[in-house]
Amino acid sequence: MKNKRREFLKLGILATIAAPLKSFGFNSISETSTNKPIVLSTWKFGIKANEAAWNVLSTNGRALDAVETGVRLPEGDPNERSVGLGGRPDRDGRVTLDACIMDENLNIGSVACLEHIVHPISVARAVMEKTPHVMLVGEGALQFALSQGFKKENLLVAESEREWKEWLKKSNYKPIVNIENHDTIGMIALDMNGNLSGACTTSGLAYKMHGRVGDSPIIGAGLYVDGEVGAATATGHGEEVIRVAGSHLVVELMRHGRSPQQACEEAIERIYKKNIKRLNEIQIGFIALNKNGETGAFCLQKGFNYAKYDTTGNVLIDSDYKVK
Ligand code: ASP
Repeated sequence: MKNKRREFLKLGILATIAAPLKSFGFNSISETSTNKPIVLSTWKFGIKANEAAWNVLSTNGRALDAVETGVRLPEGDPNERSVGLGGRPDRDGRVTLDACIMDENLNIGSVACLEHIVHPISVARAVMEKTPHVMLVGEGALQFALSQGFKKENLLVAESEREWKEWLKKSNYKPIVNIENHDTIGMIALDMNGNLSGACTTSGLAYKMHGRVGDSPIIGAGLYVDGEVGAATATGHGEEVIRVAGSHLVVELMRHGRSPQQACEEAIERIYKKNIKRLNEIQIGFIALNKNGETGAFCLQKGFNYAKYDTTGNVLIDSDYKVK
């Protein structure tokens, strides 16, 4: 009885603290029960990737294994033309890939401008687990991958080669919003044990300059995970995401009390204000997940969607957007 009374008093005190915080627009994370496991990923190819991730999550696997397993799917699919095998090349006809991975304990691994390897995400994980470093690029990343037993392959599929040769005729570099010659799979997940992880992988912008690196392999830009707070990932014109350290920004906003939805909206607002004169040239989308399994997504302009898989099923959702 005494214990019960003590518990009741404790809850009462918590409620008294939470109420005024809420009136300042802060959502107390402890107010809701946790929705887990859950996985979110960018774009339509996220549906299949989520299924692969869900197989891991629903059998009590780690979020880290789930996100790696999930994004390997589009990486290995030659028909997905913006990730891994089949990714569109740079202007020199070279397919260069960017990827990173992060777990709940700030363990990180990343590769950038990596050629000839179908699964850059697994090379990124090997960087995280088997080297004293967090990021390897270009030739060094390839050498490391080969030393780890990854196979050297030609990633330029016939269709990409044909398109690239067509592009060369004018060599006009102008990525077009939502006419997708680029797209990234960013995936974030919360496992049954309450641990978060994320993965992000892409061939980047088609016909980019050789050596160009986007946001996707940059921890804090294309992906960020804080095991105590939440996770976020980005897609779209990477230069603008890097400028505001986008995914880190979203996670920091959640740390300061924003819901995942509010955090994505605020990050997009910041990019919007900086790009007001060239809004028709860029698209950026963020997805976010907090420790409770609450989710959010927002993008600059119409056209971004994301896949969400939790105990209620796997669905593709159109993101709300800023420029209306
Ligand atoms: N963020 C990627 C990059 O800039 C491209 C994309 O997601 O569309 O390389």
